[in-house]
Amino acid sequence: MSVSFELLATDGVARRGRITTAHGTVETPAFMPVGTAGTVKAMLPQSVAETGAEIVLGNTFHLMLRPGAERVAALGGLHRFMNWPGPILTDSGGFQVMSLKELRKLDDDGVTFRSPIDGSQHRLTPERSIEIQKLLDADITMSFDECTSWPVEEDAAAFSMRLSMKWAERGRRAFVERPGYGLFGIVQGSIYPDLRLESSRVLADIGFDGYAVGGLAVGEGQETMFRVLDVTNPALPAGRPRYLMGVGRPGDIVGAVKRGIDMFDCVMPTRAGRTAQAFTRRGELNLRNARHRDDPRPIDEHCACPACRHHSRAYLHHLIRSEEILAAMLLTWHNLQYYQDIMRGLRGAIEAGSLDDWIAAFEAEQALGDIPPL
Ligand SMILES: [Zn+2]
Repeated sequence: MSVSFELLATDGVARRGRITTAHGTVETPAFMPVGTAGTVKAMLPQSVAETGAEIVLGNTFHLMLRPGAERVAALGGLHRFMNWPGPILTDSGGFQVMSLKELRKLDDDGVTFRSPIDGSQHRLTPERSIEIQKLLDADITMSFDECTSWPVEEDAAAFSMRLSMKWAERGRRAFVERPGYGLFGIVQGSIYPDLRLESSRVLADIGFDGYAVGGLAVGEGQETMFRVLDVTNPALPAGRPRYLMGVGRPGDIVGAVKRGIDMFDCVMPTRAGRTAQAFTRRGELNLRNARHRDDPRPIDEHCACPACRHHSRAYLHHLIRSEEILAAMLLTWHNLQYYQDIMRGLRGAIEAGSLDDWIAAFEAEQALGDIPPL
C-alpha cells in the first residue's frame, strides 16, 4: 500500500535496503540533499540526480509561506514545480517554527507564528502540516512535532516529547492513505534513554511507515548522539526505514549507518559549497586558503564530479576570491558527489559484509588530512 521497505542485507545492525515510493525507489542507506525552497541551492535538478541522489527533501515551512502550498498544488505539485520527478520527502515545518522563538506561540493544539518574510500570521497544527505536505505531493510526509530544544532538563524533555506523541497520533489520523505515499513518525526525548524508549514504543504502537530520530545534532556532540541511537534503534520496528534527521558530517553518517540508520538529510554539503568548504576523502578543506592559489591539481583526483574532472584548485580559489556564482555551483556539486560516494561505499560494504573494514579505511583516510602542498 504505502511506501514499502525491503531489507536486502545486514552487517551487524547496519542495513542495506530499498524504499519504494510513488515516484520511484531509493537505495538505502541514503543521503537526501536538502531542497528547502523547492531547489537544491546552486544545482540543476538533473545535476542532483547525476550525483546519485534518488530523493530530495522539501520544506513545509518555507513553501507554505512562499509560494504557498495551494499554489504549488495548483501548479501540479512539487515534483512538477521544481522538475524533480523522483521521490520527495517533506519535513513537517516543526523544526523551523520552533526556531522562530519570539515570533511564535505554542499551545496544545499547534503553533501560531508570524512569517519572517512579511510578518503575516500563520498557524500550523498536526492536521494542517499533513494537509500541506499532501498539497506538495510529498512521497514521504513527516509528523508535525515539537523539536525539543537543547540543552533541556529531563522533565521539560518529557513534556515536549509527550506533546509530540499526541500530535503524531493526530497526524496519523489526518494522513490520507494512498499507494506509494507514506507517513513517518519522529522519536523525541532528547538525550534521555527512558524518554527515547517511551517515544519509540508510542510511535510503534500507533504504526508508521517509517521512523525518524529527531532532536539530535543540536549541540549534544557525536558521542552522545551515538549513545541515543544505540538505545533508540533496537526499539524501532525492524521492517521499516529509520531516518536520522539533520545529520550530518561524513563521520556522523558513517557511525549512524553502523548503528542501523537508513536515511539522512543535512544542509552541510550544500551550505559548505557556498562558503568555499569542500568535504573530501581526506577531510575538509577551505578553497579560499592561499595555499591553493597556484595548485593545478583537482580537489580530489578520484572524484567524478565536474569540479574535480575539469578544474584545478587554483581556478576554484580564483572563482571564490572573485565571488563568482560558479564557485558555489562547482563546490556544491563536489560535496554532494562526495556524500553520495560515501553512501555508495556504505551500501557496497554492507552487501559484502565488510562494513568494519570499510569504516576503518574511511577513518584512516580522513585522518591523513589534505594532500601536502606542492
Ligand atoms: Zn569532486
